[in-house]
Amino acid sequence: MSKLEIKKYGDPVLRKKTTAVLEINADIKKLASNMLETMYLAKGVGLAAPQVGISLRLCVIDVDPNKKYPVVMINPEIISGENKVSAGEGCLSFPGVYENVERFGNVVAKYTDLNGKQCEVKAQDLLAKAMQHEIDHLDGKLFIDYLC
Ligand code: ZN
Repeated sequence: MSKLEIKKYGDPVLRKKTTAVLEINADIKKLASNMLETMYLAKGVGLAAPQVGISLRLCVIDVDPNKKYPVVMINPEIISGENKVSAGEGCLSFPGVYENVERFGNVVAKYTDLNGKQCEVKAQDLLAKAMQHEIDHLDGKLFIDYLC
């Protein structure tokens, strides 16, 4: 595994809409593994491929305090959400910025895992928030877009 460079706000790749992952090959598996390592080293709970300069629909999340539950989401989508809540939020592409953002407290999301299996998950609280934040990245959307 190797650590990747995290792109900071201002890099155009963060605003680009990503393209779907068509085949889960060795390159994608290596990317996911490097993204997880990069996220853990940066003490983040989520990282999206555009944040390491790769415009593909893939993100990684681990909201477990012991970092034992990594989730690799390929071509993820939020299917539904409810129960809007406002909570503090940061982003590895915005060092030092932490702002309140309103998001769904409960979501249903679907994605493909690294084995090519179609998954549908119900998430709440921090996991739900992380999924919305990371999937936004895949659409070129950033958390500061919610601030007014
Ligand atoms: Zn982010």
